[in-house]
Amino acid sequence: MKVFDAHIHFDKYTENHQKQIIKSLASHQVEGLITVSMNLSSCKENFRLASNHPYIFPAFGFHPEQPVPAETEVDELLKWISGHQEKMVAVGEVGLPYYLRLKDKSSCFQYEGYVEILEQFILLTMKLDKPIILHAVYEDARIVCDLLEKHNVKKAHFHWFKGDKKTMERMIENRYIVSFTPDIFYEEETREVVAFYPLDLTMAETDGPWPFDGIFQNKMTHPSMVHQVIQEVASIKKVTIEEVYATIFNQVKDFYGI
Ligand SMILES: [Zn+2]
Repeated sequence: MKVFDAHIHFDKYTENHQKQIIKSLASHQVEGLITVSMNLSSCKENFRLASNHPYIFPAFGFHPEQPVPAETEVDELLKWISGHQEKMVAVGEVGLPYYLRLKDKSSCFQYEGYVEILEQFILLTMKLDKPIILHAVYEDARIVCDLLEKHNVKKAHFHWFKGDKKTMERMIENRYIVSFTPDIFYEEETREVVAFYPLDLTMAETDGPWPFDGIFQNKMTHPSMVHQVIQEVASIKKVTIEEVYATIFNQVKDFYGI
């Protein structure tokens, strides 16, 4: 039963942990990692890692949960991505800063600035004809849906998705993908999304090195945890484990063109 980790920040692990993970992928039947980027230096690091390891598939983008970058920084990043598009499987991670906005209640929070940057990445996605990986939860997901529909984007993956039923119905209608992390074991709202969202539009991920609670507490987040996520999806959706493995594996391959 082979798996992909459909969303990980592999560049964020220490070098030792990277080596340890790479050495153990085959024994855990992990066929590959989709490693997403935070910013230009993260893109370069993921590019380097992907050049050295055939089962690392990079996505390049700008993570929204950080200060809004200067225009020149965005231009430089967009240019770099266009110049390195052959190696990349998607644009990502991009989206809107839900958690940062919760923390920063000041009136000068530049939400509009993030929306503008996201739109630039959506245009890049269309130009390069690649899928897009989104960080967009709760009410942000609606704004992102507006933008994706405006630009007629077909291949969108909302990682670690959380949101209301109405938004999910709209996303299902558009055939957008969502993915689940190990928090499936202890977050009720994640379990509700799993139950609601069609299996043929789902993937499994770790978002590593992000640490998890419950049975994963104090453990380094390892791509092999995807196996447990898949088994829990099967249990929630009351379908066979074999079916979930096969559906999700093929989904990642098809969506990312691996
Ligand atoms: Zn992420």
